[in-house]
Amino acid sequence: MGMMTGKEYIESLRALNHEVYFMGKKIKNVIDEPMFQPHIHAAAMIYQLAHKPEYEEVMTATSHLTGEKINRFTHIHQSIDDLVKKVRMMRLLGQKTGTCFQRCVGLDGLCAVYVTTYDMDQKHGTNYHERFKKWLVEVQKHDWMPSGAMTDARGDRSLRPSQQKNKDAYLHIKERTEEGIIVSGVKAHITGAINSHEILTMPTRTMGEGDKDYALSFAVPSNTKGVTFVFSRQTNDTRRLDSPLDAGNPKYGIVGGEAVILFKDVFVPWERVFMAGEYDFTTELVETFAGYHRSNYGGCKVGLADIVIGGSGWIAEAHGIGTASHIIDKLTEMIAMSETCWSCTLACSYEGYKTPSGAYHIHPLLANVVKLNITRMTYEWMRLAQDIAGGKIITLPSEKDLDNPESGSLVEACFTGKEGYPTRDIIKMLRLIENMSVGAGLPEAMHGAGSPAAQKIMIARRGGIDKKVELAKTVAGIKEDKLFEEIVGKKEQNHWKEVKNHIDGKKVQIY
Ligand code: SF4
Repeated sequence: MGMMTGKEYIESLRALNHEVYFMGKKIKNVIDEPMFQPHIHAAAMIYQLAHKPEYEEVMTATSHLTGEKINRFTHIHQSIDDLVKKVRMMRLLGQKTGTCFQRCVGLDGLCAVYVTTYDMDQKHGTNYHERFKKWLVEVQKHDWMPSGAMTDARGDRSLRPSQQKNKDAYLHIKERTEEGIIVSGVKAHITGAINSHEILTMPTRTMGEGDKDYALSFAVPSNTKGVTFVFSRQTNDTRRLDSPLDAGNPKYGIVGGEAVILFKDVFVPWERVFMAGEYDFTTELVETFAGYHRSNYGGCKVGLADIVIGGSGWIAEAHGIGTASHIIDKLTEMIAMSETCWSCTLACSYEGYKTPSGAYHIHPLLANVVKLNITRMTYEWMRLAQDIAGGKIITLPSEKDLDNPESGSLVEACFTGKEGYPTRDIIKMLRLIENMSVGAGLPEAMHGAGSPAAQKIMIARRGGIDKKVELAKTVAGIKEDKLFEEIVGKKEQNHWKEVKNHIDGKKVQIY
């Protein structure tokens, strides 16, 4: 098997036959369910672009394990160049889909588990890293999409995992046998879960000694016995059942398509277990994953910004106000903000470093700054998009009224713009802006990859405030400034004595 095309990926999901529920019904096959299709198309774009010569460099890589050409979404970053290409790939995919293409969570999980299992084996003498590499070769060979299942349901958050009344609030080991482990629990908000071939689990937080059974990472196929998916709802999601035009982005949907994954007495063979009780490595795994994933947001969301800026420019033209100075000003603001986020994500890739495992990691402080900026600036550029588009984005009649012979011409007359801009196209663009700026995309930008508070904790921890205090003390003259003394050729206090004498009119030679 080699890299799949978009069509082959879709067909590969038909064979999964996993247990999926949505709106109270069991779904027979995910690819035949219209509610899931846009999300599946968005992920299929990843597979399709990998076969395009013009995108080969960003979309594919050479496996460091097999030497084979692979989709970059299964690649472990081997250089700074890989980190940069990854975010270029994210921006490209955002531009092609206008939504979340989902596969990045699994990719970041692959890289984080790779890095952490190596370090774990060094300390504990375990063999998780070799096991993980064997599974990774399979992922690369089959071009599987693993979902990255990190967030647990978490129940009462004032309590530790082991203190929860409902044991299943966190995924945990129920039993250890010669052959493997038996696990139960719930993972929530898992992006792309129903259209992923495999599930890669990771702990959601730092675990203490009492939470050993919750310090857990493993991979299972999505159709494993005891695994059930419940697909989540999104704002305006059923519009895609009413009409393609009303949906806004009928091809690729609104955000990623999340699901709850329920594990009930699921057996995992040891060769697919990558952490089982090593609570002292949960922080490393969580932080490594979070760093990788937060850095993505300056790629994928900037790709989305490219679309919304383009759409805003087009709609302003269609309304005959494309050259108005306030429109140009707003579009310029949007571009400046999105490119700021892009610069940030490029910086955190270029400032990356090699881990002991050989894999490259991004600059963790800058990655958190990227994500924090996205939680603010996305709202701002979407606000400007709504400002430019006007109130129509929330008052448009439905496609059915447009198609109705009795009301169609009235609706059409109401939304006609500048000559040369068909009304249906104007409505299409307004719906796209509505979809991107009013829907689930905003809270996704806020909470995906962790909420702002999580980024601030990391920024505070890694921001080096103590070092900055020392810098300020040195420049203020509170702390000895050796370099200044070298420049003036004397102790700082002597220098100032001479300066004061000079100010007082005494004859002194300062240098
Ligand atoms: Fe990828 Fe962005 Fe979606 Fe996260 S939000 S899975 S980084 S596209």
